[in-house]
Amino acid sequence: MNFLQQIRADFPILGRKVEGRPLVYFDNAATSQRPACVLDLQQKLCKEHNANIHRAVHTLSYEATDYYEAGRRTAQRFINAESSDEIVLTGGATMSINLVAECMARGGFIGSGDGILLSEAEHHSNIVPWQMACQRTGAHLEVVPVRAGGSDANDGGVDMEAYRAALRRGVKMVAVTHVSNILGAVNPVKEMVAEAHALGIPVLIDGAQGIVHRKVDVQSLDCDFYAFSGHKIYAPTGIGVLYGKREWLEKLPPFMGGGDMVATVSFEKTEYADIPLKFEAGTANFVAAACLAPALEYAAKIASSPDAAEHEKKQIEAMKQTLASIDGLWVAAADAEDRIPLWSFTIDGVHPLDAAMLIDKMGVALRSGHMCAEPIVRRIGGGSMLRASLMPYNTLEEIEVFGKALERTVKLLRR
Ligand code: PLP
Repeated sequence: MNFLQQIRADFPILGRKVEGRPLVYFDNAATSQRPACVLDLQQKLCKEHNANIHRAVHTLSYEATDYYEAGRRTAQRFINAESSDEIVLTGGATMSINLVAECMARGGFIGSGDGILLSEAEHHSNIVPWQMACQRTGAHLEVVPVRAGGSDANDGGVDMEAYRAALRRGVKMVAVTHVSNILGAVNPVKEMVAEAHALGIPVLIDGAQGIVHRKVDVQSLDCDFYAFSGHKIYAPTGIGVLYGKREWLEKLPPFMGGGDMVATVSFEKTEYADIPLKFEAGTANFVAAACLAPALEYAAKIASSPDAAEHEKKQIEAMKQTLASIDGLWVAAADAEDRIPLWSFTIDGVHPLDAAMLIDKMGVALRSGHMCAEPIVRRIGGGSMLRASLMPYNTLEEIEVFGKALERTVKLLRR
C-alpha cells in the first residue's frame, strides 16, 4: 500500500457512501474524521476504564487519570510547551478563548479605554468573547484589515502596516488567528507576536486551523496563549487545549468554580489548586482528553512523512486548477503564498446554500454560509460562501470527482 492508501485504511468512515456514491468529505475544517486508533481507545476507555478522574483512590480512577494526563502530556510535546502545567484541557478552542478573555477582564488585565486587537478574518469564537470582555470592562475592539475581496491584492495577508499602527493605539491584548477558516492563508504569527511583545502586549493565537496543517512550537512562537480543538485534528469533539505561559496562568484568576480546581474549601474562603487544574473545574471529558494522545501522535506521524508534504502540494495544485476551470468562480485569498488546503469561494449566479445541497446529492460534503466568520464573509462574499477543506486522507481522484460535481451543480443552478 502506498502512503495514501495506508492513511485511508485507518479511517472507517471514508468507506461509506452518501446518496449511493463514495463519500467525498471536504468539510474537514469544520471537523476532521477519526482514525481507528482514536475510535478504538474511545471504546476501550468506556468499556474498561470508565471512572471520574483525580478524585478516588480505586483502580479505575487511577487508570482514567493516567489516560487523561497522558493526553495532556502528548499535547505538551505536540506544541513543544515547556511544561505540562502550561496545558489547560478545555471543551474546545471556543472555551479556551473564552477562558482567556473572561479571566483577563476579571483579573483587571484589560480595563476601560484599552484596545483589544483582532484581525478582520476572525472566527466568531475569537470575536464574541472579546466583545463580552469589552462590555464588562469598557475596553474596545481594534480591527486590522486583511487583503482579500475588493483590495488591491487577494493574498489573505493581514495588513502589517495597519497592525503596527493599531498596536500603538493603547492596545492591551492581541488575539489573532494562525490561519483563518475562510481564507486559508497562514498569518505571520511569529512576527506579529514579536511586534506586540516589543510594546509589552500579550498575544493569544487562535490555532483551531493552524495546528492541523502547520508545525506549532509555542516556545519558538513565544505567544502567551495558543488555543485549539481536538476534533479538527483527529480527536473526538468536546476536548480543547489552551496553552498559556506559566506566568500568565499563575496570575489569571480561575475561570469557573467547582470540584477539582480547589486546594481547600470552607464557607469563608477557598484556596485554588495549582495550574493547570485551577482552570479545570468539574468532571472533565476524560475519554476525549485521553484520545488526544493517539490523535496527536497520529498527526505527528503523518506530518513527519515527506510523502505528506508532497501530497499537500499536489492537493493544492489540483484544487487550484479545478477551481480555476469553473467560469465565474472567485476564490478568497487565491494568491496566498503560504496556504493550508482550504478554499472559500463564490460562484456568479449560484447561491452557496443551493450549491452545497445539490452537490451533497452527488456525494460531496462542502460547507456553506457565513461559516462562523460573518464579518469577513459579509465583506468579501456577500454573507455566504462555499468552502472546501481537505485533510491528508483526501485524494486527487476525489478532487476530480468534486470538480465534475461542481461543474454539474453550476450548470443546473446558474440563473
Ligand atoms: N477558530 C477557528 C479559526 C475555527 O475555524 C473554529 C472552528 O471552526 C474555532 C475557532 C472554534 O472551534 P470549536 O468550535 O471547536 O471551539
